Amino acid sequence: MMPAPAIATGYGGRLTVDLGAIIRNWQALDKVSAGALTGAAVKADGYGVGIVAASKALFAAGARFFFVATPDEGLAVRAALPEAYIFVLNGLHPGSAALYVAERLMPVLNSLPMLEEWMVACLGRNEALPAALHFDTGMNRLGFRLNETSVVKRMCDEVGYAPQMIMSHLACADQPQHEKNRTQLALFSSVISQFPGIPASLANSAATMTSRDMHFQMVRPGIALYGGRAVNGRRNPMVPAVRLEVPILQVREGKTGESVGYGATYTLARDSRIAVIGIGYADGFLRSLSGSNQHQGGKAYVRGRIVPVIGRVSMDMCELDITDLGNDIPLPGEMVEVLGEHVSVDDQADAGNTIGYEMLTSLKGRYSRTYVDSGAGS
Ligand SMILES: *Cc1c(COP(=O)(O)O)cnc(C)c1O
Repeated sequence: MMPAPAIATGYGGRLTVDLGAIIRNWQALDKVSAGALTGAAVKADGYGVGIVAASKALFAAGARFFFVATPDEGLAVRAALPEAYIFVLNGLHPGSAALYVAERLMPVLNSLPMLEEWMVACLGRNEALPAALHFDTGMNRLGFRLNETSVVKRMCDEVGYAPQMIMSHLACADQPQHEKNRTQLALFSSVISQFPGIPASLANSAATMTSRDMHFQMVRPGIALYGGRAVNGRRNPMVPAVRLEVPILQVREGKTGESVGYGATYTLARDSRIAVIGIGYADGFLRSLSGSNQHQGGKAYVRGRIVPVIGRVSMDMCELDITDLGNDIPLPGEMVEVLGEHVSVDDQADAGNTIGYEMLTSLKGRYSRTYVDSGAGS
């Protein structure tokens, strides 16, 4: 799954993924949702940390139900974990039923044509092949419309098919007070009442953490496993799982009135010391982390201090204002933290006007990846 970067020198950036943190986060959510099974969303290359490594660690911790977006991701998990139960959220790609059956992937059936195709596959094999039924209760993304419920039920009943799970997805779970959560819960409850005895699943990370009445039989956390903030406006209790350090390429002096970077969007208001670091938008350090005189950008942690990005983030590098470090001058080659203990994924995301999900899933390519285990879970 991972692109194969040509990194052997050790002179580039360094991404460290703490599998122990991911395990502890899963265990914490499993405890919170004690009455339900705790699945794990590992789509988008395990939210950027590596789908195979994350899935194996989670399986070892006790997770058995994995949610991927695409069949390719399903194959990656299947190859690593022969005993995992794998749901493919994007559904059944037309014509792909045989592949799903062969690899024991469970499609999340999102539309009547998908359901039709899966029923044909079941009849052809004379087997109730497991799948989930996804009802849209307020996203207008994937899922059966609610007025299709009776048709869905009839199609299942006609052939005596019992789905593995009934699910829906929340639009506003990160805002627990949002009234849409109650509306969706009520609509979902009315759908599942028509499928008695079938396990139900509604909760993502946020709903797992905030709403016991949304746990049903399975919760499906993603972002919280990787240490990201799931619920807005609260302290994030999860353990950070990612540290990204990149090298200083050069330290230079700039004079008052000079500009920094493309577009000359940042003008030095004082004689300044600048560190050029080896990460840019091509590495997932989003261009929205640029800092101008009007708008503060991203940050980094250098020699015990948080320092700002100044000027535009370019493809392969960006600049930091390290004037405030005084005579504590870092050296070329020294590593600085751009994500980790001191600059959380969400702090950096906020600075770049985005969300932790996008920061994490933008991690890619040009750094070495090391997996560590910070210690056994409880
Ligand atoms: C991604 C996803 C999840 C996990 O959501 P988080 O907010 O990352 O916890 C759960 N369910 C569905 C349908 C998803 O697409």
